Amino acid sequence: MISGISASPGIVFGTVLLFKEKKIKINKENISEKNVQIEIKKFFQARKKSAQQIHEIKNQAKKKFGKKKASIFQGHILLLEDEELETEIISLIKKKKISADFAIEKIIQEQIHTLEDLKDEYLKNRAIDIRDIGDRLLKNILNIPVIDLSNIKKKVILITRDLTPSQTTQMNLEKIIGFITDLGGITSHTSIMARSLEIPAIVGTKDITKKVQNGDFLILDSINNKIIINPSEKKIEYFKKEKKKYFNIQKKLKLLKNLPAITQDGKKIEIGSNIGNYKDSINAKKYGAESIGLYRTEFLFMGRNNLPSEEEQFQAYKSIAEKMNGKSIIIRTMDIGGDKNLSYMNFPKEDNPFLGWRAIRVSIDNIKILHDQIRAILRASVFGALKIMFPMIISMEEIYFLKKEIKNIKYELKKKNIPFNKKIKIGIMIETPSSAIISKYLIQEVDFFSIGTNDLTQYTLAVDRGNEIISKLYQPISPSILYLIKKVISASHKSGKWTGICGELASNPEIIALLVGMGIDELSMSSISIPNIKNIIRKINFKKSKKFAKKVLKEKKIKNIQNLIKNFNKKENLL
Ligand code: PEP
Ligand code: MG
Repeated sequence: MISGISASPGIVFGTVLLFKEKKIKINKENISEKNVQIEIKKFFQARKKSAQQIHEIKNQAKKKFGKKKASIFQGHILLLEDEELETEIISLIKKKKISADFAIEKIIQEQIHTLEDLKDEYLKNRAIDIRDIGDRLLKNILNIPVIDLSNIKKKVILITRDLTPSQTTQMNLEKIIGFITDLGGITSHTSIMARSLEIPAIVGTKDITKKVQNGDFLILDSINNKIIINPSEKKIEYFKKEKKKYFNIQKKLKLLKNLPAITQDGKKIEIGSNIGNYKDSINAKKYGAESIGLYRTEFLFMGRNNLPSEEEQFQAYKSIAEKMNGKSIIIRTMDIGGDKNLSYMNFPKEDNPFLGWRAIRVSIDNIKILHDQIRAILRASVFGALKIMFPMIISMEEIYFLKKEIKNIKYELKKKNIPFNKKIKIGIMIETPSSAIISKYLIQEVDFFSIGTNDLTQYTLAVDRGNEIISKLYQPISPSILYLIKKVISASHKSGKWTGICGELASNPEIIALLVGMGIDELSMSSISIPNIKNIIRKINFKKSKKFAKKVLKEKKIKNIQNLIKNFNKKENLL
């Protein structure tokens, strides 16, 4: 039996698909004259195989997403079969006497560099397509299996060393019924996505990829954090019962999903949902969300080949506004970088991506992206209660700048007679120690705070949120974090404003009484957690929880805090 970090709840039984990406190793040695024709033949064979694979993907995409999206792949085939590309590769093999893989790599790199140097955004973005095609050609020449997560035929549990958020967006969820990774933590974005997709997942097992083989039968129980390889009949029966038990609890909880989250003595907490797309907003309603506390718009920018236009964004925001029917929706501007990259944007190689070009920094440096997004949000603001929120703020300068940009865009829209909500609320995420420390200044400039405890924890404790090696140190209830949370809540309340939490801490059942006692106004979480959290809040006595929080905030050691929490939850019969 193996365990890891339960990332998304559920119990599933299935066959293993081991997804191991082998490194592409190019043969750089010179070849003899008599092998030239063999290498040329290898190129043609790999090209034929690649074209067949892309055709297959195109057909799948057509079925799933329609003709328009599928046409991207027709473009890939044209690039792959481009005559100029063929001529250049063949002449390089002949002239330099090098292997087909080496020639392909050289030519593809040249083309990528030429495209990347161009001013034209469209052509620049084609560099990504060329890289994709190059990789496919190389893998086919070197006999490295190309696994396409959107095109899996049988139902499987996916096992892989790591899974990026953009790979997660491409997964075929009808076929991938659960996943397990070596790497990752509870707050890495792939885990967060797994919860919205309601796909059971365990991450951070360290070495599951070394312990299973393709075709093994697995039980993935992410409720109890257990993975059983090739279980006995008896074990299967036992876990089937566990699954049924979990299902029944969920069913019961769902019955109270539409009740308000109100404590025994009348303190109301707003319960929001964290979403990444329109489908998630349907789920938000299904699980009884009272608002959208965090719309991670970067997912609108991922899993595609170019930036979404202002119009596309407007339509996306408008449709969610209409779906939520007047309920508050906090739209966070694109938070890209860190572990979320855009395949079509040039991200520099950074030693510390989470401390680097991420979130608001990318938007400020790409002012058109920021402008398009703000314009789209403002235009959609007449269709619902939209709010704007900025991620990863560290300074007053950023807020002054962003507010000035919003003001200019409002002016421009007004001049064109385009309607928008003039009083749209502006908030920021508190997810850096800097913003928490200067929260009393920041609140003078904004309408609300939402604490991103996922990042606030990683930045305050200097513990990478996705690194399973140090996951024991990732403790959002450390005295330093609780101190900052309290400071932020107090700063907002002193100014008559409010603070929510949209990090994963907001859905941790054990911590809810503490957060309520600290005076939190709103909690936003993956939709599946909502019924359980509402149920807990409805059992809390606010007065008692305030006293308890005061006591906790005086504690210096994590262990003591954990014990206090455990005892309070037990005494109050909350869990
Ligand atoms: C956070 O940091 O807590 C947060 C909600 O933002 P994200 O998880 O998208 O970084
Ligand atoms: Mg964050």
